[in-house]
Amino acid sequence: ITSNEGWNFDNSYQRLPGIFYSRVQPTAVADPKVVLFNHDLAKELGIDASILKDSADLFSGNRLPSGALPIAQAYAGHQFGNFTMLGDGRAILLGEHIDQAGERHDIQLKGSGKTPYSRGGDGRAALGPMLREYLISEAMHGLKIPTNRSLAVVSTGESVEREVEFPGAILTRVASSHLRVGTFQYARQWGEQEDLKKLADYAIDRHYPEVKEEEQKYLAFFKAVIKNQAQLIAKWQLVGFIHGVMNTDNVTISGETIDYGPCAFMDTYDKSTVFSSIDRQGRYAYGNQPDIGGWDLTRFAEAILPLIDHDTQKALAGAKQALQEYLDIYEEAWLSGMRKKLGMFGENEEDLELIYRLLDLMEQHKADYTNTFRSLTLGQFDTDIRLFQSNMFKKWHVKWQARLADQEETIEQAQQLMKANNPSIIPRNYLVEDALEKAVSHHDYSLLEKLLDALANPYAYTENQEEFAVLPPTPDRPFQTFCGT
Ligand code: AMP
Ligand code: MG
Ligand code: MG
Repeated sequence: ITSNEGWNFDNSYQRLPGIFYSRVQPTAVADPKVVLFNHDLAKELGIDASILKDSADLFSGNRLPSGALPIAQAYAGHQFGNFTMLGDGRAILLGEHIDQAGERHDIQLKGSGKTPYSRGGDGRAALGPMLREYLISEAMHGLKIPTNRSLAVVSTGESVEREVEFPGAILTRVASSHLRVGTFQYARQWGEQEDLKKLADYAIDRHYPEVKEEEQKYLAFFKAVIKNQAQLIAKWQLVGFIHGVMNTDNVTISGETIDYGPCAFMDTYDKSTVFSSIDRQGRYAYGNQPDIGGWDLTRFAEAILPLIDHDTQKALAGAKQALQEYLDIYEEAWLSGMRKKLGMFGENEEDLELIYRLLDLMEQHKADYTNTFRSLTLGQFDTDIRLFQSNMFKKWHVKWQARLADQEETIEQAQQLMKANNPSIIPRNYLVEDALEKAVSHHDYSLLEKLLDALANPYAYTENQEEFAVLPPTPDRPFQTFCGT
C-alpha cells in the first residue's frame, strides 16, 4: 500500500557501529490530522504529494513508510558551555530518502514519543512550537540560507503537559543529515578511536567526498566544516537571524541551520539582542554568534584531534591554523554580503568604513534592521523614522550614492543586487505570534498560510509582502522564546 508514495529509503547511518543509535518505534497517537503540508518540498523530494498531503498516519509515525527503519541518534554536546550526553530525546529518524537526483535526505519525526535518550522528557512536542519551527525553517529556506526543511505538521489529538496543557503535534523534518559536532564529541568521549574514524569517514562520504583525495584528509574535512559554518553564520548575521541555542549539538557538519526552538529575527538593530528566556548571560546574543561559532568549532577540533594527526603536537598545530582561518572566512563572507546589500559591486578600500558607519547610525537611532535595508533598496525614506531624519544619515547617504555613482554598473543594476540581497520581509515576531495564536487557539490557519506564502520568496518584493513589512504596533515589546516546548 505504501510503495506508490514515492519513498526511496536507505538507512546508511545504521551501517555505523551500534553505539551511534538505538532502534526505536514512534509511539502511536490518538487522532492525527495533517495541519500543514509542504507541497513544494514534496515535489523536490519526488514523493507523491496528492497521496501524502492527507497521510496523517504516516506523518504521526502511526504507520511507517516502506523502507523506513526508525532510530534515535546518539550524540553529546556542550549546552551553554557544559558538556553532557544528549541524543534524540523526542525525534526519531525514519531513514534517508534518496530523491531522483540521488540526493540523500534524513526524514525525521519530531515529537513522536520517548526514546532511550529522553531522560525525564515525554518525547512529545506542542503544536505552537512545531508550527513555529515549520514557518521559520521554511522562511530561512526562502531567504536562501542553508537549513533543514519542514515537510508536514500533524496535530496528534492528544495534549502535552508543560506548565499548562497544550495540544500536541509532530513535525516532519528533512535535512541533508543530522550529523553534528555533538555526534563527534559523543564518539570521542564514549567510543573507541575506530568509532570516531568510522564516523568521520561516513561524514566525509556524505558531505565532503572531495576531501578523500587530500593527503591530510581529516584536517581537510575539518577545514571544509569550518568554511561552511563560517559562511552560514555570515548569512544569519546578514538577515538578522538569532539562532538562540548554538550549543555544539546544534552545529551541523553539513553547514545547515538546525534546531529552531528559541530562534527569532531581530527587529531593532542591536548587537546585544537575545530572545531566548534561558540565555540570561547573552551567550548567544546576535553580536556573539560569529565568536560562538568559533568556540563550537574548537570543541569539534578537540573531538577529532586524534584523527588529524597521531602526533598530538602536529594535530594541534593543524587545528589551530585552521581555526584561525574561521574568522577570516566569516568576515570575508559578511563583507561581501554587506556590499551586496548596499548595491556595491567590486571592492573599494572605504567600503568597510561606510558599512560600519551605517550600522552605527542604525544602532544610535534604534532603526529596524530589515526595514532600513528595505528602504535603501527602494529609495523610500519614511520621514517618521528617526534614522532618516538625522543629518548624519543624510551625510552618509551622499557618500553611499557617490560610491554607487563611481562604479561601472548602473543604478538599476545596483538596485537589482540590493533586491536580491535584502529581504522585503522576514518572519517578524509579532506576526509569527499572531499567526500561531490564530492557528492554535482558533484552528484558523489562514494567516499562517499567507505568511508562509509571502516568505517563500522574500526577495521578490511583491505586493502581498507589503502588509508583512509593517513594524510591530508597539516596537521593542519584550519578546521571549522558549526551548523544549
Ligand atoms: P535542544 O535544546 O532542542 O537541542 O534539546 C536538548 C535535548 O533535550 C535533546 O537531547 C532533546 O532531544 C531533548 N529534549 C527536549 N525536549 C524533550 C522532550 N519533551 N522529551 C524528551 N527529550 C527532550
Ligand atoms: Mg538540539
Ligand atoms: Mg530544540
